[in-house]
Amino acid sequence: MKILIVDDSIVTRTFLEDMLQEAGYSHIMLAGSMEEVFARFCSDNGHSCPLVDLVLLDIHLPGQDGIEGCRVLKQTEQFRDVPVIIISGLKQLENLEPAFTAGATDYLTKPPKRLELEVRVSAALKLKFEMDRRKARERELQEMTARLEEANRQLQQLSTRDGLTGLANRHAGSDFIKREWLRAIREQHEFSVIMIDIDCFKLYNDTNGHLAGDDCLKKVATALQNGLHRPADLLVRYGGEEFMALLPGTGSDGALTVATAMQESLASLQLPHGSSTASPLVTVSIGVASACPDETFPVEQLIAAADRALYQAKRAGRNRICTARDL
Ligand code: GH3
Ligand code: MG
Ligand code: MG
Repeated sequence: MKILIVDDSIVTRTFLEDMLQEAGYSHIMLAGSMEEVFARFCSDNGHSCPLVDLVLLDIHLPGQDGIEGCRVLKQTEQFRDVPVIIISGLKQLENLEPAFTAGATDYLTKPPKRLELEVRVSAALKLKFEMDRRKARERELQEMTARLEEANRQLQQLSTRDGLTGLANRHAGSDFIKREWLRAIREQHEFSVIMIDIDCFKLYNDTNGHLAGDDCLKKVATALQNGLHRPADLLVRYGGEEFMALLPGTGSDGALTVATAMQESLASLQLPHGSSTASPLVTVSIGVASACPDETFPVEQLIAAADRALYQAKRAGRNRICTARDL
């Protein structure tokens, strides 16, 4: 451990240094004034300063005295937790109270006796060691808390996101729709649901393999997402190759525009699908339903209507959009 002796008397400095070295402390630094301490141990760039574990500080110093020096030292980053033992002449004992107020840990009278010096230095260094250990433990705890928070954030993402496409999963979609439906009732605005299903996707898998199928699903998800432009809209992976777009504040005309945009966005990718009965490219069938909700109208009814419209699009030959007009 590193001990700094601050005393203007070279005799006292050497005397203390010798005794401490005899007691087994090998890393001892010396300074003759507070000004020297600040220059050598407290520069703006604290990292390049030598570290100190204990300061033995004379009260009487040329320039700034030990008590004021102690007060200033304790306000620096490097010395905030470093114990300071004040060295006082017998005639200056009345100065001890201000020294403790200034942040000193202990005191010694001049000339210090060997045993007294050893005991007090050893106690102060033990205190410093414990303080360092506690700080390291606190840092460790802080790091652990940060890691836990990050893991929680990832878990949260995993539980609301679909692993393959990165879209909201069905669970998150269900939460969203409950919340937004209530808001739509309160604010009396329209709400649209769009159900989307990839055409002949089983055949796509059968022809190209499951991995290519997964890749295709990701591309379709991105294309559909590109058809949505409002921040309030949410695209959900509803099931295997089924998606659902939830559009708060959008009526039937707007929803039809969005459905068309999604269909066109997918068409522009020109993904080949050799075994589809609907088109030589990967296509989707889409069902759209819109309503202006009230308390008597359950949201499940809107979803069921979009589902029926989708079924209608399939029956009519796939690769098309059908709208539920009967709500
Ligand atoms: P339709 O045009 O009537 O919708 O026919 P389809 O083949 O798309 O519909 P069907 O419901 O018969 O089959 C859906 C297929 O979607 C079954 C399965 O092979 C595929 N599928 C569902 N989830 C995944 C997935 O996560 N990855 C891959 N690769 N395929 C999936
Ligand atoms: Mg399908
Ligand atoms: Mg399906």
